[in-house]
Amino acid sequence: MEAGIVGLPNVGKSTLFNALTCSQSAQSANYPFCTIEPNEGIVNVPDSRLETIAHYFQPQKIIPAALKLVDIAGIVKGASVGEGLGNKFLSHIREVDAIIQVVRCFEDEDVTHVSGKVDPVSDIDIIETELMLADMQTLDNSLGKAQRTARSGDADAKKRVAVIEKCQAHLNDEQPLRKMALNKEEQKIVNGFGLLTAKPVLYVANVDEDDLSGEGPLVMSLREFADKTGAQVVPVCAKIESEIAELDENDRKEMLESVGLAEPSLAMLARAAYQTLGLQSYFTAGEKEVRAWTIPIGATAPQAAGVIHTDFEKGFIRVEVYGIDELVEYEKESAIKQAGKMRIEGKEYIMQDGDICHFLFNK
Ligand code: GDP
Repeated sequence: MEAGIVGLPNVGKSTLFNALTCSQSAQSANYPFCTIEPNEGIVNVPDSRLETIAHYFQPQKIIPAALKLVDIAGIVKGASVGEGLGNKFLSHIREVDAIIQVVRCFEDEDVTHVSGKVDPVSDIDIIETELMLADMQTLDNSLGKAQRTARSGDADAKKRVAVIEKCQAHLNDEQPLRKMALNKEEQKIVNGFGLLTAKPVLYVANVDEDDLSGEGPLVMSLREFADKTGAQVVPVCAKIESEIAELDENDRKEMLESVGLAEPSLAMLARAAYQTLGLQSYFTAGEKEVRAWTIPIGATAPQAAGVIHTDFEKGFIRVEVYGIDELVEYEKESAIKQAGKMRIEGKEYIMQDGDICHFLFNK
């Protein structure tokens, strides 16, 4: 699961991305199998449940869940018709599961705004328009082919034509596709087209140093807009975050205190992105490590096992599961078992947020 960071020029994207890549050098050691490209950053998803579990296992290591964020450069007005880096960014956005748009909410006369004025809602409008135009092109290109196949009597192609026309009508009303009501079958077809405005979005309000909680009029206008569309807004001061990220642990604490933050805003951003992507965590726990693993809401037990290793999914037999409440009450896995509270679940089990698991599988 990946989220792509987009934004107009000069809104603080690179600054935010620097903060991400600075704070990842220690973390990436935890993800040796995950290659990280220069335009990618890893951000931890802090979760207080990890500390609760670790209290009972005293593990050597605690490993939080992490998200990969991809820096997608090049969106400017006219990008969908080839301005700036043009269509290049489109293929990058197609590959991500959600979009994080950085929106400038800081005033600084030394930093030029591409439209000459700091206006969060207008910035969003510019980008959304480019994405909608790109989607229209994609749909136009697909319609002809689907119509030809449909004429030969192909039932699936007929369904595709209907979905394409539904999407086109929606875009013609200047509505992004993420707000469209779709049944499961239609959703599957839409997913197949890799449409950009169908992806969930969240906004990072890049705020002034003196408005870290994001209460100023610019952020409020952004919040008002986002509320109407059901999107989340995370206030982040990219400038301060990049300074925080460069500090060692002790200095970091001191700096956070001095600016009145309980934790880096990147942590809040990671949690919001997790929610936007429809993700949840389950845990594995032992003396060696206590670790959070990321799965989509609704994942089955074998799919969850597959996140640890693909062989775990293929050879899945069953899973032993308990919750944090049981751990707090009985303190030890053996006591949870004795009390009959350790559940055995099979292939059909739908994972619940916060499950603590032991997978049993055929090698
Ligand atoms: P990008 O073009 O979106 O990648 O923007 P940059 O990250 O290069 O930032 C553009 C300019 O804005 C740089 O001079 C940054 O130092 C400045 N900048 C970025 N974030 C902030 C912020 O939160 N507050 C202020 N005052 N300046 C910022």
